[in-house]
Amino acid sequence: MPTRVVVLGAGFGGLELTTILSEEFGKAIDVVLIDKGDAFIFGFSKLDVMFGRQPLAAVRHPYKDFLKPGVRFSQTTIRSIDPATRRTVTDAGTFDADILVVALGADLDPAATPGLMEGGHEFYSVAGAAALREKLPAFEGGPAIVGVCGKSFKCPPAPSETALLLHDFLTERGRREASQISLVMPFGTPIPPSPDTSQAILKAFSERGITFVKDKLVKSLDPVRKVAVLDDGAEMPCALFLGIPVHRVPQVVVDSGLAAHPYDWVPVNKQTLATKFPGVYAVGDVNGVGTPKAGVFAEGSAKIVAAAIVAEIKSGAPPEPYKGQGSCYVEFGHNEVGRVDVDFLSGPKPTGTFQQPSAALVAEKAQFGRSRIARWFSR
Ligand SMILES: Cc1cc2nc3c(=O)[nH]c(=O)nc-3n(C[C@H](O)[C@H](O)[C@H](O)COP(=O)(O)OP(=O)(O)OC[C@H]3O[C@@H](n4cnc5c(N)ncnc54)[C@H](O)[C@@H]3O)c2cc1C
Repeated sequence: MPTRVVVLGAGFGGLELTTILSEEFGKAIDVVLIDKGDAFIFGFSKLDVMFGRQPLAAVRHPYKDFLKPGVRFSQTTIRSIDPATRRTVTDAGTFDADILVVALGADLDPAATPGLMEGGHEFYSVAGAAALREKLPAFEGGPAIVGVCGKSFKCPPAPSETALLLHDFLTERGRREASQISLVMPFGTPIPPSPDTSQAILKAFSERGITFVKDKLVKSLDPVRKVAVLDDGAEMPCALFLGIPVHRVPQVVVDSGLAAHPYDWVPVNKQTLATKFPGVYAVGDVNGVGTPKAGVFAEGSAKIVAAAIVAEIKSGAPPEPYKGQGSCYVEFGHNEVGRVDVDFLSGPKPTGTFQQPSAALVAEKAQFGRSRIARWFSR
């Protein structure tokens, strides 16, 4: 009997993991990949959709094209997970596994911020980004806030990128002078592990007249008075609010006992990504390994878990420990992209190395996306 691997979630982590297993074993393995969605979309594509740089159809990669030897894709919603027996119950039936990988990402909870959806917008979901694409062109001017509502959120550079791209968007439409852009973030600098990257972003903010409100969260919005209320009680006038909603552990993962509560990401062994349940791993945003919530880290952790599964099946040596390293591209606007290479787990504290924005990095980021799609969606 081939080893049965069930992978929950076909995001960055799940796609990379199943691709490696298919490459390694072909039809000699029995992998089931489960996702409720019908297509993969890069996180960064949401910014492209929101600012009208790409149509939604161009950034959707349908799972019907994910055809790999040894892998079955099932589009269905996961209803319960029993990590002790490695049994998953879905709307399409029950799946039992020898090895279970939980890669369900981070859920968004806009309702946790009173007034967010009545008085503002979120752009972290595909639906939210697509809705803003229709709404943004109607913004005539006034105070615009890009605001983070919870401490733990996907892609730490994304709020800064959004403020810079909003500057370009309003400039191109002749509305920048009538607008004031502020970014509210729970960090002291835009990218804490990399002072060089933070300095470059703060310089770009100052050149463009963007206000950086540090060490603050947006706690609520008052749609009647048109203000955003911060966690220290301060209020900011707000005609346009682009929010990064509170992130939480998916409820089905909390119910499984893999996480203690909605804000306690699944505890794992930092070197192996193994949970406390034998044969159960957690990769990507859903885990609490201590890296940022970003696709590159989901991919890196998937590679380690895939290597561990290969080693187990082939009785080989276990893989090198996970190092929590990854490269993030940072949109600076003005058609420029910078890059920060971060290392979260190798040393005593996280470090980051910055590459200045350039046209070459624009091409490199595009190639980064293209190469993943070619790898995951080729037969
Ligand atoms: C605006 C924005 C910009 C970003 N930019 C970047 C960037 O430039 N670089 C970068 O590396 N990262 C970026 N990210 C972050 C990146 O998108 C995520 O960190 C990454 O997708 C996490 O991968 P994952 O595999 O852990 O989870 P995900 O990719 O979120 O996948 C989880 C999957 O689980 C599925 N799922 C969840 N619950 C269920 C259920 N009950 N039943 C069935 N299926 C379920 C979901 O449908 C989803 O497909 C960005 C994110 C955003 C929002």
